[in-house]
Amino acid sequence: MKKSLLKYIYIRIINISIAIILILNSSFKTYAYDILNNNKTLNIVIISSHNYQDEQEKQLLSGLYNTLEKLKPKDLDLNMEYESLDKNKITNNEYIDSFNKLLNTKYNDKEIDEVFTVGDDAFNFAKQQVLNFESILYHKKVISIGLNRNVDLTEEEEKYMIRILSANKEPLWINIILYLQDNIDTVNIILDGSEYSNDIKHRIELSKNLFYRDVKINFIQSNYIEDIKQDLRKINKNNQANIIVGSFKSKDNNLDIAPNTIVTDIKSITKNPIYTYSYEYINSGVIGGYVNIPDKQGEYAAKKLYSMLNGDGSKDSIVEKIESTFIFNYKEIYKYKLDTFRIPEGSLILNKPKFALLLPMPLKVIGYTIISSIIIIVIYGVYRLIKEKQKAKKNKQLYERTKEREKLKTDFIVNMSHELRTPLNVILSTSKLTELKINKNDYDNKYLLEKLEQINKNSNRLLKLVNNLIDITKFELGNYELKLENLNVVEVVENIVLASVDYSTCKNIDLVFDTEEEEIITAIDKDKIERVILNLLSNAIKFTGSGGNIYVHTKREKNQVIISVEDNGIGIPKDKLSEIFNRFYQVSDTLKKYEEGSGIGLCIVEEIINLHNGGISVYSEVNKGTKFEIKLPIYTVEKNLKNLETRDVQQIVRLEMSDVDTKEK
Ligand code: ADP
Repeated sequence: MKKSLLKYIYIRIINISIAIILILNSSFKTYAYDILNNNKTLNIVIISSHNYQDEQEKQLLSGLYNTLEKLKPKDLDLNMEYESLDKNKITNNEYIDSFNKLLNTKYNDKEIDEVFTVGDDAFNFAKQQVLNFESILYHKKVISIGLNRNVDLTEEEEKYMIRILSANKEPLWINIILYLQDNIDTVNIILDGSEYSNDIKHRIELSKNLFYRDVKINFIQSNYIEDIKQDLRKINKNNQANIIVGSFKSKDNNLDIAPNTIVTDIKSITKNPIYTYSYEYINSGVIGGYVNIPDKQGEYAAKKLYSMLNGDGSKDSIVEKIESTFIFNYKEIYKYKLDTFRIPEGSLILNKPKFALLLPMPLKVIGYTIISSIIIIVIYGVYRLIKEKQKAKKNKQLYERTKEREKLKTDFIVNMSHELRTPLNVILSTSKLTELKINKNDYDNKYLLEKLEQINKNSNRLLKLVNNLIDITKFELGNYELKLENLNVVEVVENIVLASVDYSTCKNIDLVFDTEEEEIITAIDKDKIERVILNLLSNAIKFTGSGGNIYVHTKREKNQVIISVEDNGIGIPKDKLSEIFNRFYQVSDTLKKYEEGSGIGLCIVEEIINLHNGGISVYSEVNKGTKFEIKLPIYTVEKNLKNLETRDVQQIVRLEMSDVDTKEK
């Protein structure tokens, strides 16, 4: 007896030890994988509850797939298989058997390292199979996501299954609603008939004393939207908030109604804010919710798998509770005048424009006003700065130009005094000398004529100078008028060239006129065009040395007449070409020694050509020569002003050529 008692105790001790070892083993070793060391491929089977994928399931799967791929150790291959149950046959045992058989055949000779289930039905299926030694899922490791409720597991089932659930914090969510809107005194909780909804209802009832201020809680529960609407209509009053949970059908066809239709239906009854506890309502017109974001759950499950592969398999990870997220719709926040400062930190704000601020409306207005004022001030500042810089630049340019003009004017006055003094000196000294000679009776006619001619020439120089000055003033005042006549411009140019031949001959310069056409009639102011040609000719003669050539040419080109005056004289340096039409400009003092001049001739020439709507250009090379080319439009005027004044061409030529040195060289 004693012996048998001892034996009994002995056996009991062994049994208890084995049990303790088994328990310890099951507690801490259940999820100790060896895959990372021995196996290069991780075989995963994902079983989903539906044969169609709703939005939530899609997101759960995408979170799962993406994270599995992203965090995969480098030398591990993933082999993922996807299976789905038929939601409508899930209660049918025959269907479950056949589905099981299907899995058995498919995975008979394949390893399954990990099973993921998505949704309640797949979880229930796996729960039955992990302990069914006829199933391919027998003693496989299962991680379940997308569960609507926490189903209790037996100790044996817990060895193989991990449930990832969202943390239940209904009191927190209701407290947040009460805190966001001080006026709320009643919260209507709209629930469907599911176990999940019953759980929530139960938890809220239990946590009533946890609400931070007094609030009435109404439950409206049905699977049918018609009932929900009817019940809500009865109790709907001001200062209420609604929380919607679950999915609802229509009595008409017994089909599920889309979340946005449900929200619209509820909004047709109440103007009160609608919140949710289910992810699928988030984008359907509710203010916001405290929800479990599906892809976060998928992501969590994938991470869980890898952390276990790395040896973390402790028992407290059998039920994982992940925090839900506060989500708010940006527009609705303002529509329902929520205090934005009271929105929980870390909340997700949907549909928020990129640069929008989440602030109370008055602050937002002030904020936007300040920001826009700053932007306007900055833009204005930059604008002012640019303007000031432009102004400074303009002022500098203006100053430079004024300085240049001043210099030109001073040069002009110096030059002009010289120009005036030279002929005046000649006139004075010649007349004085002649007077002396006459007094002494020491003169003859030839001597007298010669001196008179000198006086004449120098008087002409003075006259030309004064005329030019008057013209320039007229241009400046804008009252320089043309007397247009329809004339043969070839003839006008030819005559003036012929009248100037004497002056070129004096300097031993060959002056030639040539034309492609004998007659080109156009409207010109004859006097002015003559002055232009004479000016160009006098310059050509002045700046061409003895033995040189001057070639004057006319031609028609389209509807323009082209007059060119070309010499092979001293030329003009390239950098001075653009300057010579400026008033008072003379190329340089070194060149000036050649001849007299005031530097206003070409300025007048250009003004006259512009008044004729024509143009003048110059081509020149130092020591090779210069070519001026005038283009005048060919057209006729109706009223042909006849120039009635009798003109002495020779006198005009004498006047214009007065500064050409005619002493034979
Ligand atoms: P100016 O009365 O001094 O001749 P213009 O306005 O007629 O004044 O000419 C301006 C300057 O252009 C002249 O001083 C001279 O330096 C230069 N110039 C004009 N025509 C010629 C030319 N045919 N050859 C060389 N230089 C010329």
